Amino acid sequence: MKPNILIVDDKPENVLALEGLLREEDANIITANSGNEALALLLDKEVAVTLMDVQMPEMDGFETVSLIRQNRKTGHIPIIFVTAINKEEKYVSQGYELGAVDYLFKPLQPSVVRSKVRAFLELYRQKEELGQKTVELEKLNSALFQVNAKLEVSLRELRVLNHDLEQFTSVASHDLKAPLRTISMYLSLIENKYRGNLDADVGEYLRFAVTGSNRLSSLINDLLLYAKAGNRQMKCEDVDVNSILSNVLQDLKASLEEAQGRVEKTELPIITGDPTQLSQCFQNLIQNAIKYRGSKRPVIGVGATLSGNEWRFYVSDNGPGIPKDSYEKIFQLFHRLHSCEEVDGSGIGLAICRRVAERHGGRIWVESKPGKGSTFFFTIPTNNQKNGTTH
Ligand code: ADP
Repeated sequence: MKPNILIVDDKPENVLALEGLLREEDANIITANSGNEALALLLDKEVAVTLMDVQMPEMDGFETVSLIRQNRKTGHIPIIFVTAINKEEKYVSQGYELGAVDYLFKPLQPSVVRSKVRAFLELYRQKEELGQKTVELEKLNSALFQVNAKLEVSLRELRVLNHDLEQFTSVASHDLKAPLRTISMYLSLIENKYRGNLDADVGEYLRFAVTGSNRLSSLINDLLLYAKAGNRQMKCEDVDVNSILSNVLQDLKASLEEAQGRVEKTELPIITGDPTQLSQCFQNLIQNAIKYRGSKRPVIGVGATLSGNEWRFYVSDNGPGIPKDSYEKIFQLFHRLHSCEEVDGSGIGLAICRRVAERHGGRIWVESKPGKGSTFFFTIPTNNQKNGTTH
């Protein structure tokens, strides 16, 4: 909608002259021939700028403006006094005290009139635009608020669901373990009792059953570890990663020797973290480096570098490597690149490592050169809090 310009003058010829000067402007011109009429119009219409004659009978320009300023609805309207006589300082200052924004002195210079009026029209347009933007912003804000609120509810639900799932995994794993132990035990009893007396087929079936139940047992154990890495309260303390590594290597000594492998380590830092979880992470990565060695003797590198405000640990191997399109997938639960016939496993180890890294506020990823080996990196921030960092 076009903005309104109000011309207030008791003399029709003056009104006509101003109208003529402002005809080209992109605005509606409305006119009043007295202060009273001007007031009535201003109460009724939104006006961008008023051109007010100072000398009018009944109520002069100053009185009119004084009334305009007193009204909340009209108080803000810009006013330009138009006058032939009051060029003297005292009149001008009277006008300004009343909140007049400007003066135009007669004889009017068309370019001055137009540029002054244009400035106010522009100001009005900007104000309108700002008003619209504010309304839009308020709408956006309230939409954002609603989305946020919904998101919070979803997050809360997700946390509850996650917690329930962890609980379920943990309980189910525990409950599954007991009957599985019974199955394994009876299978071993049968195997021992009838060793040598079973025909070849039955012996083979029995071995399949034993292998299957062993696999199930280690799957349940790994699932339990995965659940624990997610829902166990973290116990963060200062830990010497050198001693974590030496314990892990002690546990893996037999399989490392069997594979005729060796570990080359650099000095490792003292960091703040959960020692059980960090051990689990190193154990899984080094175990994988041994397991997925292909036909080579494993040479495993372990080290750390400080990068910004995080420690970056690595476990490298000289194994077959990992194709690029599997860099992400191998950290997903149950995702395997090798079948159980090739290398035994459950596809949970790296998912545990990811949980451990993320719960410490870090990340994990792999880089690899097919045929040459892989390097797993994980980061742990240096500003982790001791005791009870839980995510
Ligand atoms: P698992 O070893 O029980 O299968 P992981 O989650 O530890 O489960 O590993 C997922 C898959 O990633 C493995 O099955 C294997 O195919 C691949 N992988 C893991 N570590 C290596 C490695 N160092 N070299 C090559 N492949 C690997």
